[in-house]
Amino acid sequence: MLSWNWFRHPSGRSLEELNCIKDEIAAYEFSHNGKDEWKWSLHGSGHFHTSVLTELITMRLSSEAATTSTLRNNFLPQKVEIFVWQVLKNRLSVRTELEKRGIDLDSTRCPICENHIGTLDHTLLHCSFALEIWGRVHC
Ligand SMILES: [Zn+2]
Repeated sequence: MLSWNWFRHPSGRSLEELNCIKDEIAAYEFSHNGKDEWKWSLHGSGHFHTSVLTELITMRLSSEAATTSTLRNNFLPQKVEIFVWQVLKNRLSVRTELEKRGIDLDSTRCPICENHIGTLDHTLLHCSFALEIWGRVHC
């Protein structure tokens, strides 16, 4: 028997996904020797390691760079390149993008100023916090 302890009770799409997971768990036949385990399918060892994930992301970015025209700058830290890549591909996890992906949110308003919808443009260019940062960069 599983017990669930929620910070916030799931609703909407999250509740549907939870019910799917519960159905899969209920249908799963656990081994009787007590050796059931989670396996990460993206690596042959079955174990999750952030270093392997970093390697996979780097390989993905490299292959994408080879097939598409991508701006690469060897002087920038890789995390900055990944951030820029996310911005260019519109994959930054701003409120409106999270909502499009079906993530249940209390609000799509900007979590910083709460005055506007949390779009990518607002978050990076128009939010009062972003404007303050841009002002400091341009000094
Ligand atoms: Zn804002």
